[in-house]
Amino acid sequence: MAPIIKAARFPMVISLELDERYSRQVLFGSIGTEGQRKLGASGVVIVGCGATGSTLASLLARAGVGKIRIVDRDYVEASNLQRQTLFDEADALQSLPKAIAAARKIAAFNSQILVEPQVADLTPKNIDSLLSGAQLILDGTDNFESRYLINDFAVKNSLPWIYTAAVGSYGITMNILPGQTACLACVFPEVPQGRIETCDTAGILNSAVSAVASIAATEALKFLVGAESELRRTVLSIDVWQNQHAEISAKTPRPECRTCAQHEFPHLEGEGRPHITMCGRNSVQIHERHRPINLAEMGERLKPLGTVRQNEFVLKFWHNSYEMTVFPDGRAIIKGTTDPAVARSLYARYVGT
Ligand SMILES: [Zn+2]
Repeated sequence: MAPIIKAARFPMVISLELDERYSRQVLFGSIGTEGQRKLGASGVVIVGCGATGSTLASLLARAGVGKIRIVDRDYVEASNLQRQTLFDEADALQSLPKAIAAARKIAAFNSQILVEPQVADLTPKNIDSLLSGAQLILDGTDNFESRYLINDFAVKNSLPWIYTAAVGSYGITMNILPGQTACLACVFPEVPQGRIETCDTAGILNSAVSAVASIAATEALKFLVGAESELRRTVLSIDVWQNQHAEISAKTPRPECRTCAQHEFPHLEGEGRPHITMCGRNSVQIHERHRPINLAEMGERLKPLGTVRQNEFVLKFWHNSYEMTVFPDGRAIIKGTTDPAVARSLYARYVGT
C-alpha cells in the first residue's frame, strides 16, 4: 500500500516568487530596472500568430512587455505544431483560433501582463481599430498583401514596425522606423509576382523561424526600452542550413518611394483587394460577408447535412471531401479546393449569401 502523504508537508498552493521573474533580465545592463519598467508600461501588436508570431509573442510576453494584442485569422492544426511553439495537440483537436490559444498559453506562464486576442483578418476596414494604441507593430503574417497594408498604415501614422519572414531554412527581417529608415516599399517596390515560395510549397525549418524571430524580438526590446541608437538599420537575412548571413543597408528612405516620399497608400485604400484569397495549400478563404454569424444556430442547421463540430470561437463542417471552418465574423476557410468558384458556391449553399 502506498504511503499516505500528509497534506501539511506538501501545501497545495505553492506561492511563486513572482518578483524574481525578471531578475536575470534586469541584471543585463542595457535593460536594468528602468528598462524593465519601460517594458511593463509598453504595448505592442503582433499581426499573425503562426510560427514567427508565436515566437515573437512568447519571447516578448516572457520578457514582460505589459500589453500584447495578438491578431490572427486562423485556427490551430496538426501541421502547425512542428514550429508554432505556443500551441499543443489539444488546441489542434479543438481547432482553437490561434489568437485565443496563444492568449491562454501566455496567461499560463505570465499572468502579470495583459494579452488581448483578436480573431480577425487584418483588412483596410479594421486596421485602424486593430493596430491603434500600439507603440510598435510586429509582423507575424505570411503574405505580402498584409505586410504592404501594415507598411502603409505604419508610414502614414509614423508608427514603427518590424518585418519578419521565414521559409525553408531562410529568414529575413528589417526594422522600419518611418521618417528615418527605408520602408518595405523602399526595399520591395512591387509585390513580387508569380509563384512565391511559402511554407506550404517549400516547407520550413522551425530553427529558421526561431532564429529570425529571436532577432526581431531583440530589436523590439531595444525599441521599447528606448535604445533606438542600437536598432539595426539593415535588411538582414540568414540561412541556417547554408550558414549564410547577409545585410544590406536600409538606413535611409528611397527618394522616389511611393509610400515614404509620395505618401501614396494604395493598400490602405483597399484598391483591388480580393474577397477571396488563397490560404495555404488546397484551401480558400472567403471574407465577403460582414454580418456576424450565430455559430450555434448554424450548427443546428448543418447537422443533418454532414459532420459538425463547434465551440464558442469556431464551427467546423465536413461535407463530402470539403471541410469548412466558419468564424463568428462571417469569414470561412474552405479546404478541399483551390477554385474560388467552388468555394464561393459552397459558402453560398452552407453559410449563406
Ligand atoms: Zn519607403
